[in-house]
Amino acid sequence: MRILGFESSCDETGVALIEVQGDAPPRLLAHALHSQIAMHQAYGGVVPELASRDHVRRVIPLAREVLRDAGLGLADVDMVAYTQGPGLAGALLVGAGVAVSLASALGRPALPIHHLEGHLLSPFLSADPPEFPFVALLVSGGHTQLMRVDAVGDYELLGETIDDAAGEAFDKSAKLLGLPYPGGPHLARLAEFGNPEAFDLPRPLLHSGKPDFSFAGLKTAVLTQVKKLGPNVCEQSRADLAASTQAAIVECLLKKALLALKTTGLKRLVVAGGVGANRHLRETLDAACAKRGIRVHYPELQLCTDNGAMIAMAAALRVQRGLAPADAAGSFEVRPRWDLAELSSP
Ligand code: ATP
Ligand code: MG
Ligand code: FE
Repeated sequence: MRILGFESSCDETGVALIEVQGDAPPRLLAHALHSQIAMHQAYGGVVPELASRDHVRRVIPLAREVLRDAGLGLADVDMVAYTQGPGLAGALLVGAGVAVSLASALGRPALPIHHLEGHLLSPFLSADPPEFPFVALLVSGGHTQLMRVDAVGDYELLGETIDDAAGEAFDKSAKLLGLPYPGGPHLARLAEFGNPEAFDLPRPLLHSGKPDFSFAGLKTAVLTQVKKLGPNVCEQSRADLAASTQAAIVECLLKKALLALKTTGLKRLVVAGGVGANRHLRETLDAACAKRGIRVHYPELQLCTDNGAMIAMAAALRVQRGLAPADAAGSFEVRPRWDLAELSSP
């Protein structure tokens, strides 16, 4: 069967087509993505109303592009999947509206997907997919969580951030350094030339003994340093501050991921979400996990941030496990706020 997946939870419109054949690993036939980053950059962040309008403009052309790339037509689509939440309500409504309308016109089922389940299962799109069970470190723009994952649809929250997400910490610090939105990748690039020990930045909750995180204090500390350095700051000091910020975030993520692996006794770590693209994070996790006999899996670099492929993949893995209701949905609702652990059966 072929599943057409739609993602529109924030500022990326994504569409993808995946083929499922029996128990074989689902195969990505085609995917297309439009990022609104350039449009929101002038505002320093995502403007929800503009995001929704742009999804409306992009979604149908992207779906056409995907079908054309796959050499297939609408009649070849057996199921439609879409991001139901969490995310921006208006943005979610665009993808959900298009997906459910299309499914209903085709007489096919429409499967709502949890956006974070998409991120979490995105490493299954790589050449070397993980095996269950594993610990998942979900590090995105809106979430920072450690989960125990025993199977598709079986997610236990081990710990999460009590304030900002890791991606948010990257973005807010980058903004203070005068870098464009979203600052994560820009800060990472600047950090390449910096000394990570130049500034002593806080690592809140590092020794809490629990797999939790707190990044709000880091942003305040970066602000203090930026003010101290003043407007005529030299390029090297900016790079040093970027490197020190990145080092603080990565150390927190590393320590807590290791703690979760230790307490669960699991030997497999899956990293997902936009911050999973960070090179320093990958190198640090790889080195620490290699020493402990732990395997680490990542999504492909370009599939760390939002995309349609991960939504179609989550749907495909659900279908293979009998976790997808076969009836066509006539109506729909979006869930801007939605905990992933709610997906697990009690
Ligand atoms: P959520 O999935 O929680 O709803 P989101 O969809 O906005 O949030 P993602 O698309 O998964 O989040 O990730 C975007 C985040 O990843 C941004 O904060 C961005 O700065 C960060 N990011 C992307 N690449 C890198 C990188 N190389 N280094 C650090 N951060 C990065
Ligand atoms: Mg985004
Ligand atoms: Fe996301």
